[in-house]
Amino acid sequence: MADYPTSLPIEEPRTLFKAPLSMPSPGASGVTGFWRTMKPVINEDKCIKCILCWLYCPEDTIIRRDDDSVYVDYEYCKGCGICADVCPVNAIEMVREVV
Ligand code: SF4
Ligand code: SF4
Repeated sequence: MADYPTSLPIEEPRTLFKAPLSMPSPGASGVTGFWRTMKPVINEDKCIKCILCWLYCPEDTIIRRDDDSVYVDYEYCKGCGICADVCPVNAIEMVREVV
């Protein structure tokens, strides 16, 4: 069995997890982003590149660039809002998509 760490010093996730552990893929009826009623919109001016949204997104649909800036893969994001909840500087706003 692989020996995975059970706890990490706060600065270590940046260096340990450069790649996601799983990737989103189409379900039986195609991409899953169409389930969404609210979508996360990232304000890049407020973002401090802490990557918490990337770490917590359960769908792996926060995409991390090499400089630790982030953007959303709307093909698969389901709009759960976890990324907005964990953002320490309120840089992510959940915006209604469906009227
Ligand atoms: S709304 Fe949910 S699924 Fe979409 S990017 Fe944020 S955490 Fe991920
Ligand atoms: S949690 Fe907020 S501040 Fe941190 S990377 Fe995501 S959008 Fe930027």
